[in-house]
This record gives sequence, C-alpha cells and structure tokens, in this order.
Amino acid sequence: MGALSIKQIHKSFNATTQVLKGIDLEIEKGEFLILVGPSGCGKSTLLSMIAGLDAPTSGRIFIGERDVTDLPSKDRDIAMVFQSYALYPNMTVARNIAFGLEIRKIPKAEREAAVQRVAQMLQIGHLLDRKPGQLSGGQRQRVAMGRALARDPVLFLFDEPLSNLDAKLRVEMRAEIKQLHLRTRTTTVYVTHDQVEAMTLGDRIAVMKDGLVQQFGTPAQIYRQPANRFVAEFIGSPA
Ligand code: ADP
Ligand code: MG
Repeated sequence: MGALSIKQIHKSFNATTQVLKGIDLEIEKGEFLILVGPSGCGKSTLLSMIAGLDAPTSGRIFIGERDVTDLPSKDRDIAMVFQSYALYPNMTVARNIAFGLEIRKIPKAEREAAVQRVAQMLQIGHLLDRKPGQLSGGQRQRVAMGRALARDPVLFLFDEPLSNLDAKLRVEMRAEIKQLHLRTRTTTVYVTHDQVEAMTLGDRIAVMKDGLVQQFGTPAQIYRQPANRFVAEFIGSPA
C-alpha cells in the first residue's frame, strides 16, 4: 500500500449535484503529486477530504496502512498550506511557526529547535521577531510554509499556495518548494489550476475534470500520451 490511498471517493453537498464521482488515487511515499484541473472540478473538495476537514459521502482514505476516513483532522499527522496564509496577526513569526507544536504540547526547547531549523531552510531567520503585518506577501507565504514544515508531518497538502503572489515571485517560490521537497521528501499533494506549475513540480499529475480523474501519470506521459482531447487541450500537448 502507498503513502496515501484514495478509494472510490464520492462527495455530494446536496441531492442534485455530485462534486466527486469516484476518485481513486495511489500515492507513493516521498512522491510529489499534483492535482490539476479547471476551476470548480473538485480539487479543493478532494483535498479537504484528505485533510479531514470534511467527510466524503462514500469511499475510504488511507494514510499508509491506517484508514483515516473517520479520524478528525488533528489526528492525521498532516500539514496544510492554503492560498490565504491565515497567520496569527498578533503573534511573532517565530510563534506563528511554533504554534502548532505549542498546541500539541511539544516542549519549548524542541519548539525553538524546530523554529531554527525551518527558519534556516526558508531563509527567514531575520524575520522571526516581526509580526505578519510587517512582512511582504512572499515572506508571509514562506512563514506559512515554515509553520507546516515545523511539524515534520507524514503528508503535506497545498491548495493553490502561490495564486496570490505576482508572477515573478510565483516562479521563485515554485523553485523553492521543489528544493524543499527534494530535501525533505515529505509526501505531498499539491493543488493547482496552473498547467506550468503542474508540469514543473509534479512527480506525477492527476488531471481532473467534473469530479473525475481523467488521467494519472508522469508529466512526460501526460504530455506525450494525453488520455483524451480534454487532457491534451488542458495541458497544451501537440495535437
Ligand atoms: P476547485 O477547487 O477545483 O476549483 P471545488 O472543490 O472548490 O473546486 O468545488 C467543486 C464544486 O463543488 C463547485 O461546483 C463548488 O461550487 C462546489 N462546492 C464546494 N464546496 C461546497 C460546499 N461546501 N457546499 C456546496 N457546494 C460546494
Ligand atoms: Mg480550489
């Protein structure tokens, strides 16, 4: 069994519309998986099921061997980074990074070591005493990643984390996320609607449309052998 197994996930919010129509995915340990697809296809809904923020209508989710479908989010050992970074405005950067550890009653010395470790990794050591309001957008996004990294989770979830940044910063942060993954090898699910981001970051890519995975493969497979016309057009493969 892989690091994350998604088995026949269905999700309806009401009687008439089914948002997820039977998603199956098997993600290997250390893999960087991209979920890509047009707006409204169900990417964030699927991610929130993996995170345990919402329950599927049917289907099961396994993290490693463990069936986590009925476990609350806090017991899943995952860390999330969203588009809105939601840092605590009244806390310093250092405390923002350490806060998840504080809640889990991790001792102070260990928290401080974690803050130093991620600050070095993300080059934000000089920002630790500042408040989020004193940071640029890119710096805030780094702190949000630092907060996730401090936990050293089994699974990282990203939901369009770069979409609020300008184009130049987006390209920079993309490269940093790649580097970070190469260094930590934490299994990652990364949601984007950006084809370039998908092709440059993903070990494998799941292309979604209308609540179904249209194709699941490496960037090269998807580019060279798109499963259907939708995938070809979405990814921009030669006809
Ligand atoms: P994506 O992240 O791919 O843009 P979403 O997963 O956010 O798409 O949404 C997929 C569909 O589910 C959309 O049609 C959206 O309106 C609907 N949806 C998402 N969350 C809810 C909710 N809490 N209640 C009702 N409909 C929802
Ligand atoms: Mg979304």
